[in-house]
Amino acid sequence: MKALVVGGGIAGPATAMALHQVGIEAVVLESRAHIDRDAGSYLGLAPNGLSALDAIGALDLAHSVGTSTRSHVMFGATGRRLGTLTAGTPLADGTQALTMKRSHLGWLLTAEARARGIEVREDAKVVSARTDRDHASVQLADGSELTADLVIGADGVHSKVRRAIDADAPTPRFVGLTNFGGITRDTALAAELPEESWSFIFGRRSFFGAHPTPDGDVVWFVNVPEPEITTERRASTSLDQWQQHLAELASVDAGPARALIESGELELAGDNTYDLPHVPVWHRGRLAILGDALHAPSPSSGQGASMALEDAVVMAASLRDSDSEAGAFAAFESARRARVERIVAVGARSSSSKIPGRIGRVPMEAMMRLVFRYLVTERGQSWMTGHRVHLGANQRL
Ligand SMILES: Cc1cc2nc3c(=O)[nH]c(=O)nc-3n(C[C@H](O)[C@H](O)[C@H](O)COP(=O)(O)OP(=O)(O)OC[C@H]3O[C@@H](n4cnc5c(N)ncnc54)[C@H](O)[C@@H]3O)c2cc1C
Repeated sequence: MKALVVGGGIAGPATAMALHQVGIEAVVLESRAHIDRDAGSYLGLAPNGLSALDAIGALDLAHSVGTSTRSHVMFGATGRRLGTLTAGTPLADGTQALTMKRSHLGWLLTAEARARGIEVREDAKVVSARTDRDHASVQLADGSELTADLVIGADGVHSKVRRAIDADAPTPRFVGLTNFGGITRDTALAAELPEESWSFIFGRRSFFGAHPTPDGDVVWFVNVPEPEITTERRASTSLDQWQQHLAELASVDAGPARALIESGELELAGDNTYDLPHVPVWHRGRLAILGDALHAPSPSSGQGASMALEDAVVMAASLRDSDSEAGAFAAFESARRARVERIVAVGARSSSSKIPGRIGRVPMEAMMRLVFRYLVTERGQSWMTGHRVHLGANQRL
């Protein structure tokens, strides 16, 4: 059996490796001309995502580029600590969540897939996909067509394969936040932050996150509650102007946000944040989707990449254990739908908590202290980060 995997982000190469592991040949098609190792900002891989990497023999890759994250420490705009959460249920060997550059992970997964003999084609933009009784095919922007037994769309939140499966498929929803990310190198401020932790500041005009690295750098991001950034605004705003704007937003809050932004380098600017809470049709004939194409969560969930990696493992196990594509895709949906939609809903709630509402800042911080003490607890979150997927023969998905 041969599969075309559309998209060489996180889900694409991971799916190709998982398929390869169960004896299905896969070719990855990526639209970018070059898979860049250093573009963009950082993400956290939760233990559930790390367990999926372990299932495809790629956990070492994450260790090689990741910084250990033990906890998430929440602060209010006045600098008051609102609560601390662990970063999830560690793996059996003690591995904690890891923070890493998103592009480092994608790049390493691609390199590993190639090292395992999987073809990853760059500059291969898919414009449409088709399914018939015996084959599935994709049409590329250069006019060529490729055919295989299956097409799996791992082509992200604006997926073309999702649209090929269902012309009425939903479009992504803007969650009311824009996203910026950066790094401040070799800074004394690193020592002021809790070690091996993300510090989050629920600021008056923005939400700020920062994580120190063992090298003495601090990686950070800023979420700004504002309308979607237009193409024109993005084109007419320089990185320096964005940076100044972000520093000004943070200047009304206690803590290191302003200083870190002012002394840092912006690596991701003006990214609009979308989610995809419910996709009614997950597959049709020989076409299926997974990862962000299927269930993009707001980045506030900290789960997008982890869910994409889980999908890769569950899809391969479903195909291995079923007699037909239809049976496999149905098994995948039944194993995944409730979980991923629940996580996307959690992400949407986290995003809303970053948008200051009509309730005043002081009552909101008092309420949040209660929320972090009684509602958002490690035990309450173990369904999310304690979830484990496996690729051993006929193991429960
Ligand atoms: C700023 C930011 C911060 C985030 N933080 C976190 C976090 O802390 N933790 C976490 O788990 N997740 C986080 N996420 C989410 C995470 O990055 C995504 O959920 C994850 O990358 C999904 O992987 P994917 O492979 O499904 O999609 P993507 O990574 O988007 O990859 C899709 C790939 O498909 C390619 N493609 C698209 N269209 C085509 C086409 N027509 N033909 C061929 N190729 C195509 C794209 O170029 C891309 O390489 C964050 C996301 C953002 C934007």
